[in-house]
Amino acid sequence: MRGTVPAMSEIHENIKTVRKNIENACERAARDRSEVTLIAVSKTKPIEMLREAYEAGCRDFGENKVQEMMEKYDAMPGDIRWHMIGHLQRNKVRYLVGKVYLIHSVDSFRLAEEISREAVKKGVTVNILVEVNVAGEESKFGTTCEETADLVRKIAGLPNIFVKGLMTIAPYVENSEENRQYFVNLRKLSVDIKKQNIDNVSMEVLSMGMTGDYEVAVEEGATCVRVGTGIFGERTYHL
Ligand SMILES: *Cc1c(COP(=O)(O)O)cnc(C)c1O
Repeated sequence: MRGTVPAMSEIHENIKTVRKNIENACERAARDRSEVTLIAVSKTKPIEMLREAYEAGCRDFGENKVQEMMEKYDAMPGDIRWHMIGHLQRNKVRYLVGKVYLIHSVDSFRLAEEISREAVKKGVTVNILVEVNVAGEESKFGTTCEETADLVRKIAGLPNIFVKGLMTIAPYVENSEENRQYFVNLRKLSVDIKKQNIDNVSMEVLSMGMTGDYEVAVEEGATCVRVGTGIFGERTYHL
């Protein structure tokens, strides 16, 4: 008689579902699946849950607070790529540099200067994305579409910092189709900037799409999708 088969953990199952959805979106858009990285957004979630995601094969994790990321960095295996996706204060930059794989949320020259300064000091290079407020929402950080190319060019002139692409946080909507326009616009912007052939700028990364809209984002060219709730469940914030 067979023993009982342990139920696959919910996190493992969620990851399988998200991966399948990404695969299907790639197919619809005639894209190669290998172009898209799934970032498991683990903010507010305990280490045990990150371990489960790691067991399921996740190696890219996203966090939005420096201290929380550093605690998890110390507690988790060394082959994880850590993504900073939250608004970043200049006085926290030094903790990240040398540990973070990609900073998605650079939205000012002063922040980039601080990252560059710290990278030079440590003798490392740092990869970043410029955050764009494509929808022009009052409540969101990020540059305007109009300012983006200038900011990218200015940052590219700094030592030890590479602009790998653009990131956006689309509005919260019930119907993900409403965000398609913003993903299309971010992609256009990245193509425009790429054409300018700026030194130290590659525009190979487009970080867009979250639990509610990552499939549409993949259809429109996302290379990184940031999925939290869809993997780990709803977040409860203790204030
Ligand atoms: C929290 C967060 C996410 C994940 O959001 P979900 O809707 O839970 O998938 C993605 N990107 C950023 C910048 C975030 O802060």
